[in-house]
Amino acid sequence: MKVFMVTDMEGVAGIVSFTQQSYPDGIYYEQAKKLETAEVNAAVDGLLEGGATEVLVWDGHGAGGISFEDLHPKAKLLHGRPSPPWSRLNEVIAQYDLVVMVGQHAMAGTLTGNQNHTQSSRTIDYYKLNGKPIGEIGQIALYFGSFGIPLIFLSGEIDACKETEELIPGVTTVAVKQGLGRGSAISLSAQEARRLIREGIRAAIEKQRTEPVAPLVWPGPYVLEKRYFHTDVADGAASQPGVERVDSQTVRLHSDDVRDIIYR
Ligand SMILES: [Zn+2]
Repeated sequence: MKVFMVTDMEGVAGIVSFTQQSYPDGIYYEQAKKLETAEVNAAVDGLLEGGATEVLVWDGHGAGGISFEDLHPKAKLLHGRPSPPWSRLNEVIAQYDLVVMVGQHAMAGTLTGNQNHTQSSRTIDYYKLNGKPIGEIGQIALYFGSFGIPLIFLSGEIDACKETEELIPGVTTVAVKQGLGRGSAISLSAQEARRLIREGIRAAIEKQRTEPVAPLVWPGPYVLEKRYFHTDVADGAASQPGVERVDSQTVRLHSDDVRDIIYR
């Protein structure tokens, strides 16, 4: 089984602060990359122990969250911004059987979600797809679901785990910290977080052989509502063709194809 691993920084144990850790000008940013990479490596170990034949790690953190020289020797890394065009990325995604997420945070607006945000922590208030709030987890699960690829495992902050369990029946989650607010959390120790990730993801891939998690697919047509914090960002979004302006800060996009809409 070939596994595509989507990674992020804000849901890693020990990383609680945008300004000090997960923004690239943070004084502890390089240390945060090492913490994230160690959780990723624990997940790669668990996947390989559980029978994965290949693991591609996608560095999903905006400014880069993987410390390259520390990456697991058996993993490959997909990285670099701007991200490749979706048409090219789709050819890569289609080669994989399963998707997993490591280091994930909850969607923007989650009460206790440590470093909660959706895509841009500085501009986006919320996304709703067909009336249901979604964050980055829903985006990944639905995008890969359109290829028939199920999201079977997620580790990260506890609210991200709850968000995933509400979306995907049978998914395995591992909480490595409990958010107390957007800038605070109770983290497990680094060692314990890595142990739980390794064991949890191994169990998830083993379980997939007997009790498979289904790909997440919602019926279309699709309406994606995006609300921004500021009117100038909404002005820019509304200037794109086919985008409907709902109010000063909100736009709506329409499509029959979830892949065309969910990352626009
Ligand atoms: Zn991030």
